[in-house]
Amino acid sequence: MLLVMHKDATKEQIDAVMAAVEKLGCTPRPIPGGMRVAIGILYNKGPVDRGHFLSLPGVQEAIPVTRPYKLVSREVKAQDTVVDVGGVPLGNGHFTLIAGPCAVESLEQAMTIAQKVKDAGALIFRGGAFKPRTSPYAFQGLGEEGLKILAKVREKTGLRIVTEAMDSTEFDMVEHYADMIQIGARNMQNFSLLRRAGHCAKPVMLKRGMSSTIDEWLMAAEYIMEAGNPQVVLCERGLRTFAVHSRNTLDLSAVPVVKKESHLPVIADPSHAAGHREQVGPLSLAAAAVGVHGLMIEVHHAPHEALSDGGQSLYPEQFSALANDIRRIVEVVNPGCPEVCRS
Ligand code: PEP
Ligand code: MN
Repeated sequence: MLLVMHKDATKEQIDAVMAAVEKLGCTPRPIPGGMRVAIGILYNKGPVDRGHFLSLPGVQEAIPVTRPYKLVSREVKAQDTVVDVGGVPLGNGHFTLIAGPCAVESLEQAMTIAQKVKDAGALIFRGGAFKPRTSPYAFQGLGEEGLKILAKVREKTGLRIVTEAMDSTEFDMVEHYADMIQIGARNMQNFSLLRRAGHCAKPVMLKRGMSSTIDEWLMAAEYIMEAGNPQVVLCERGLRTFAVHSRNTLDLSAVPVVKKESHLPVIADPSHAAGHREQVGPLSLAAAAVGVHGLMIEVHHAPHEALSDGGQSLYPEQFSALANDIRRIVEVVNPGCPEVCRS
């Protein structure tokens, strides 16, 4: 149930409604809104008596929440959320390009790529310091040294940083260096990690698990929000299907569905969906056309030497040309969108 207060409801009335929710053994959660306060009722075991709340002073509406997720749902918050990534907005009315290598390999590698993606219009730099690799023998990332390199990239270029935390033990360290923390597809249902992300003061980018339904994905986001972090970005990165021509199948139909169900920003990662460089451009344009709020694209200046995912990494010149094409699509889908016009 969502309780919407009158726009002139007093603090005493709001407190009294919160207390009434607690008295029922439920948890009240104020939802930030434009004009008025709304209070979500969490942890109710069964239906809540709507009439009881409507009779309390200051309550204008009591709206039943029909979805299994609450805080991520549009039923609870109608307006789009814009996430603040270290000063860079991501969400409604903005189109944010995130680019960089799969993994941070050295300061020189990271700086070279960062400068090029910045010149092409990216505002956020990606690069893994902790890499979830299928093989234990594959490059696992530079760890804290990689995070320090990312911090240098931010200092020198002004690009914001997104990088992955693979488990709760390294979360503090990643949180210290990053502007946004990535939770990878393999960890989408790592519930203790999701809760840790919920206690984080920085935004979290939650990738969709490779075999997850939209409901499971949104429930994973609910874990983060329920634990206290409202700044969540959803990232579609492809599903495992019977197709062998690509690494995964980018589920573009999920984008309008998620935008209808949730107020959270949704972006796409065509690189991990495609697995092949030549598919990344067309999938990026298609994702822009279905209305994502941004794209995360892997770029490497020497992909043949990359320590991971070289085959799907764009050359900087390809990324630059693609960014121009993306801008043209976004200007059709979302005219006047501010960030995308920067380059
Ligand atoms: C990544 O973005 O570095 C990554 C490993 O992606 P995913 O979790 O989607 O496989
Ligand atoms: Mn990668």
